[in-house]
Amino acid sequence: MVEEFAFDNTEERRKSRQNGTGWIEVIVGSMFSGKSEELIRRLNRARIARQKVQVFKPSIDARYSVEEIASHSGHKHDSKPVSSTAEMLASIMHDTQVVGIDEGQFFDMELIEAVNRLASEGKRVIVAGLDQDYTGRPFEPMPQLLSVAEFITKTHAICVKCGSTANYSQRTVESEARVEVGASDKYEARCRKCFVPHSDSPTIHE
Ligand code: ADP
Ligand code: ZN
Repeated sequence: MVEEFAFDNTEERRKSRQNGTGWIEVIVGSMFSGKSEELIRRLNRARIARQKVQVFKPSIDARYSVEEIASHSGHKHDSKPVSSTAEMLASIMHDTQVVGIDEGQFFDMELIEAVNRLASEGKRVIVAGLDQDYTGRPFEPMPQLLSVAEFITKTHAICVKCGSTANYSQRTVESEARVEVGASDKYEARCRKCFVPHSDSPTIHE
């Protein structure tokens, strides 16, 4: 069993803040692993600390609400839907201290340079997203973001088949499109043993 997820970079963050520099935090994992929950938790704490926070999500992800990011467990945070990295950059204000981005895997590759630039300008940037698509392939631009981030958190779900630590998002409907927006109606969390990489496998519909 993988150790229960623990995250404490308080010391590093304190040092970074003293030097006046920004940094990048990336939260990755399968669907239902708690990425949005963790992102919302960090954003709420930044707001309690009276920091200026701006949150974005790709407009492709319209689940639950267009003006909010939401977790499967019902936590919410205001967010602005954007159709590209360029649109996001255009609406980030000079005095914003914390930039939150959910569903990072639906952004274009320009996101990598953009978050690097924002961090270099002194902002704390937190990106959450799927690290793998429904076939288990790395989901760009998340792998590249993991490379440039100062801090990385991997979250895990519970396999719905056997209760083990789940690292995969199993698609449960017929579709070969890489992007098929949905939640428990179209996906379930599975461990390495229970994951079936191909959508045409009969075990998906058992
Ligand atoms: P993500 O952003 O990674 O998709 P969320 O933060 O939206 O995840 O949702 C996490 C929540 O999903 C959990 O706290 C739990 O309430 C719920 N959940 C539903 N199915 C599962 C599962 N198989 N494993 C773990 N959590 C699950
Ligand atoms: Zn399993």
